[in-house]
Amino acid sequence: MPIGARNAVALFRAAWIHRQMHTVIAIDGPAASGKSSVARMLAKKIGFLYVNSGAMYRAVTWLVTNRGISATDAGRVLGLLDVTKFECGTANNQSTILIDGVDPEPHLTDAAVNANVSAIASIPEVRRILVDRQRQFAETNDLVMEGRDIGSVVFPDTPYKFYVDASPEVRAARRAKQGLADTIAERDKVDTTRRTSPLVIAEDAHVIESSYLTIDGVVGEIIGRLKLKGLALPEGV
Ligand code: C5P
Repeated sequence: MPIGARNAVALFRAAWIHRQMHTVIAIDGPAASGKSSVARMLAKKIGFLYVNSGAMYRAVTWLVTNRGISATDAGRVLGLLDVTKFECGTANNQSTILIDGVDPEPHLTDAAVNANVSAIASIPEVRRILVDRQRQFAETNDLVMEGRDIGSVVFPDTPYKFYVDASPEVRAARRAKQGLADTIAERDKVDTTRRTSPLVIAEDAHVIESSYLTIDGVVGEIIGRLKLKGLALPEGV
């Protein structure tokens, strides 16, 4: 990379780090790896805001499918986003999202959303918009954020990165137990092979194989690691 371009990247990074004043714990992993339950419990224990970035991609997917637009028609998807109001907020120590004033929460695990969310998440401009919103949470809160690219792309400079994995059989069984129709193998394939921000294990992430661990066990391992790294946690944690 030419020196000028390198300087520009360094300047951009410095400006962004300056904006990110709060601690971010990044938890990534494939579908149904248990990272949502882990991230939610960890955030509650240590008093950080819990942000489910997957819910943001799901909310956009619900909007798109609800309007009868194909998830692979990037032009129409972006046209719809242009005229839609997204409000990201917080309630009860969790992130919230409203789409034109409507809370999409009850629809986020609909079969149509499960089937289309990876296609929506493959559209680079959708990612750009949502990553921007995800970073804004760190301007005002300490966060536990879970997703696919949190440690690799959204907050690459956080020293607290975790990758929670589980075998495909265990993950499929977990979804079946929740009674949800989910195409996790297909989603994993699209998520790991897309061009923009694919699911990867960040170089400096601590990997936890959770197939035979309880949620408590995984949270305990993360807390142990955070302490080793010198993060100050509330008394008694
Ligand atoms: O985490 P969850 O399984 O609810 O995420 C739904 C989908 O959203 C994923 O399969 C992926 O396509 C997309 N996603 C993403 N990047 C994130 C979080 C989720 O691409 N940070």
